[in-house]
Amino acid sequence: MQRLLILMSDTGGGHRASAQALMAAFTERFGDRFQVQMIDLWSDYTPWPINQIPKSYRRLVTDYLWLWKLAWRTSEQNAITGPGLRLIGRLAQGGMRRAFDEYQPDAVISVHPLMQHAPLRLLRHKLGSTIPFVTVVTDLVSAAPVWYHPQVDRCFVASQEAMRRAKAAGLTDEQIYTCGLPIRPAFAPSAGDKAELRLSLGLERERMTALLVGGGEGMGPVAGIARAVAARLTGDGRPAQLVIICGRNEALRRELAAQTWPLPVRVEGFVQNMPEWMGASDCVVTKAGPGTIAEALICGLPILLTGFIPGQEEGNVPFVIENQVGAYSDKPSEIAAILSRWFGPAQAELAQMSERAKALGRPQATFEIVEEIARLLEERTAPDRAG
Ligand code: UDP
Repeated sequence: MQRLLILMSDTGGGHRASAQALMAAFTERFGDRFQVQMIDLWSDYTPWPINQIPKSYRRLVTDYLWLWKLAWRTSEQNAITGPGLRLIGRLAQGGMRRAFDEYQPDAVISVHPLMQHAPLRLLRHKLGSTIPFVTVVTDLVSAAPVWYHPQVDRCFVASQEAMRRAKAAGLTDEQIYTCGLPIRPAFAPSAGDKAELRLSLGLERERMTALLVGGGEGMGPVAGIARAVAARLTGDGRPAQLVIICGRNEALRRELAAQTWPLPVRVEGFVQNMPEWMGASDCVVTKAGPGTIAEALICGLPILLTGFIPGQEEGNVPFVIENQVGAYSDKPSEIAAILSRWFGPAQAELAQMSERAKALGRPQATFEIVEEIARLLEERTAPDRAG
């Protein structure tokens, strides 16, 4: 049995979800041939202040978006990121060494933008290790330069633009592998009958259903959008209902759960069964998170984008619009009006977007990634076995 170690961190919900997707796909394809473990390298293995990165990220993207924007623009300058990453590497070295000692991996898989430079430096230059190191980029289009390190054995990307960026960072065609994002295998084009799924989730069977989410952190003006949508969809054409998933934003969950609504509304915290909620819905209303977009496409859900995190999510907006699988507005009243159209006179358009979404979704991408990693490992260990 070979040991694979996935490096992730809870900056947003996407990195953990991607790690879980890879773990599930390894098991589904290879049974117990691999022992796959994931760690939050920053939170659990590094000292202050590195271990504060996930918490600081949450604060930045919820309360200080301008500062995040500045940090992102700065991260595009090699002259600044180089020394910054080296400093992180030095501070985190002891903890990273402890993680590698503990897990003794045969290969390392990074699903986080800040987990190439420091771990590779330690493995290759300090420990003299040549075990395969691969990056699975979990941003869809506008991935930050720090994702790309010329010393990785493979770099998996999900779009032509992400591939272009990898090349600009010095990676070769042999290193880059283009497929979709790693999405949990439970997201499937026909995950079940919509009406039946609604019933099993305690929703009303026949109502058109909008799923409102704000990523893993429940970010953005979710409450304002929910109120505008609920007011607009009440008594408006076909009966509708609203599911609001607040993720880890407990204050938002409490606020919305305490409210009375003019139509059926279901409020949830962080759910483990997102595939079911998507399967039960007719469209998703969300910030431009790459994970949520890729999952919605696989489920054939039209996507109403309500905002984006500057930098890494910017490119996802034109991606959705140009592929004609959704719309964008950051104004609650406009968002409500678009939904009202989709659930009313524009239902044919909604159905067409759903078909296009299914065609664009990449449910096999996760399997392609794990198969390529397995192949890489086999290639590396074959000479050892022969010898
Ligand atoms: N997610 C989840 N449960 C929740 C909220 C979100 O499993 O209650 C998952 C969602 O399915 C997706 C990820 O969290 O896989 C969010 O990733 P995305 O890239 O959309 O946004 P992020 O949270 O990383 O900013």
